[in-house]
Amino acid sequence: MRPRNENLNLAPVFKGSTQRGIRKEMNFYFRGKVKIEGKESDMRECKECHRSLSQTAFNTHVLRSNGGWTLFRICRECKTIVNAEVAIVRKNAPPKSDDCDNCHKNKKLEIDHIHGTTIFRGWVCSKCNTGIGSLGDNLEGVLQAAVYLEKDKSKIIETLNKIKEGSADV
Ligand SMILES: [Zn+2]
Ligand SMILES: [Zn+2]
Repeated sequence: MRPRNENLNLAPVFKGSTQRGIRKEMNFYFRGKVKIEGKESDMRECKECHRSLSQTAFNTHVLRSNGGWTLFRICRECKTIVNAEVAIVRKNAPPKSDDCDNCHKNKKLEIDHIHGTTIFRGWVCSKCNTGIGSLGDNLEGVLQAAVYLEKDKSKIIETLNKIKEGSADV
């Protein structure tokens, strides 16, 4: 790791340190004919079961302009289960909402369900879906982030009440 430069005005701009730069210089390996981003020997954590698995446990996801495929964030085993759950949830889901059930901003929506069940939770945008998922996909995880952002418990409750009344400035 580079030593941290506290004075950002003097921090040198490293060429290729942008996200795009990293992708250009990144490693690839081949799975048969398929070129995959990353290192074949790297272990990868499944975002669903949290096991650390080899690359081969993950299906290809998106083909990037650099010719490399990304892998799904959840392992093949979990993907099979989640796909089956979603298929059932989709059949019984209410019609799509006008906008995201969480942020009420975005209109491009994905189906959200409680993992491990076939219970529909809502129609949410991909940002909210990914964000909530990253925080653990549960109330505890989301509240943990709230406690991190605001140490004063009464302020958290005050904000929560504002959100419930629909007057919060978020
Ligand atoms: Zn998994
Ligand atoms: Zn949203």
